[in-house]
Amino acid sequence: MIYLDNAASMPVFPEVMSEAMTFMSECCGNPSSIHTEGRRAALAIMSARKVCADIIGAFPEEIYFTSGGTESDNLALFSAAYSGRNAGRNRVVVSEIEHPAVLSTCKALEKQGFEVNYIGVDSDGFIDMEKAEELIDRSTAVVSVMTANNVVGTIQPTEEVSRLCQRNGAVFHTDAVQAAGHILIDVGRIGCDMLSVSAHKFGGIKGAGFLYCRSGLELIPQIYGGGQENGIRSGTENTAAIIAMAKALSLSCVDMEEKSLRIRKMRDRLIAELLSIPDSRLNGGMERRLSGNVNVSFAGVEGESLVLGLDLRGVCASSGSACSSGEERPSHVLAAMGIPAEMLRGSLRLTLSEINTLEEIDKAALAVRETVATLRELVGFK
Ligand code: PLP
Repeated sequence: MIYLDNAASMPVFPEVMSEAMTFMSECCGNPSSIHTEGRRAALAIMSARKVCADIIGAFPEEIYFTSGGTESDNLALFSAAYSGRNAGRNRVVVSEIEHPAVLSTCKALEKQGFEVNYIGVDSDGFIDMEKAEELIDRSTAVVSVMTANNVVGTIQPTEEVSRLCQRNGAVFHTDAVQAAGHILIDVGRIGCDMLSVSAHKFGGIKGAGFLYCRSGLELIPQIYGGGQENGIRSGTENTAAIIAMAKALSLSCVDMEEKSLRIRKMRDRLIAELLSIPDSRLNGGMERRLSGNVNVSFAGVEGESLVLGLDLRGVCASSGSACSSGEERPSHVLAAMGIPAEMLRGSLRLTLSEINTLEEIDKAALAVRETVATLRELVGFK
């Protein structure tokens, strides 16, 4: 099996798995309990919080553990929108290429009377800064622009967006789910107020993530109960997964630049191979692109059929983004980039990580070539 769907979920690092297993077998305590076992669990969470905070340049008290990216995005947007409304701001500004975790939350906010405005992107998948400048004003409660896109891997100009937000007093949230663990994240450098992270995108376990929220900003609980996470996110903490997330994030940051170069080399080889197939195109610009992202379209082919055909050949891939798999609609990200209809349907996303090898890349490229040829023959595409 060649696993090229790392942006959907990365395999758990063996060291992470063993740390989580050891913790689970040795500590059964609930972090809220005051006995030895409980205190041990609470201490482990405290130390994980410090690790996560240090890595992104935050303070531990600015980290709120959640179940993952979706919950972090919801918590950020609802909180900032409601706080903004209390201060007379009723506008929400997001990019058109955000993950559904952001876009669906915006739809919910719209139903509650917020005005939601969308920043478009260019054909390479980068947000239109002129439009951003036009939309972000003193009526804006919150702006959300992702750090890196999950479909085409484009790294967005978040520092510029944050300056616009600061000038207008708007809260700036960035969804760093695809970026954390893959590129350096420094909340001070970005200048963001809130930032979402998810563990299973960088070798951690599914069901853990966190929201960074700058001290002094209001968070409004979306889940009520026992008052965990400083009263902001109730529910017994997923202790083993939280510890695992901190470990995975630390491991991801070791030799990050070196690993990224190695992955980029594989990516560029795969892109070159795929573009040598006739009637193909690369989606997303090559500059400022995550080192593990390949997104290529083939005319005359349905993306879903391509993914199934590749699966039969032992390659795990994705069309559009796997978070919305099972969904037949073409990717809203590619549509926003103005990709022609024919190419929209035939898109394939292959996402690489440090676990992949050049040998796998060559095998996968051959599998794509054969699958595309078979599918084109079936529909009589010349
Ligand atoms: N945001 C982005 C950019 C994503 O790629 C994903 C998942 O693919 C999410 C949010 C949702 O994260 P989670 O699966 O942890 O809920």
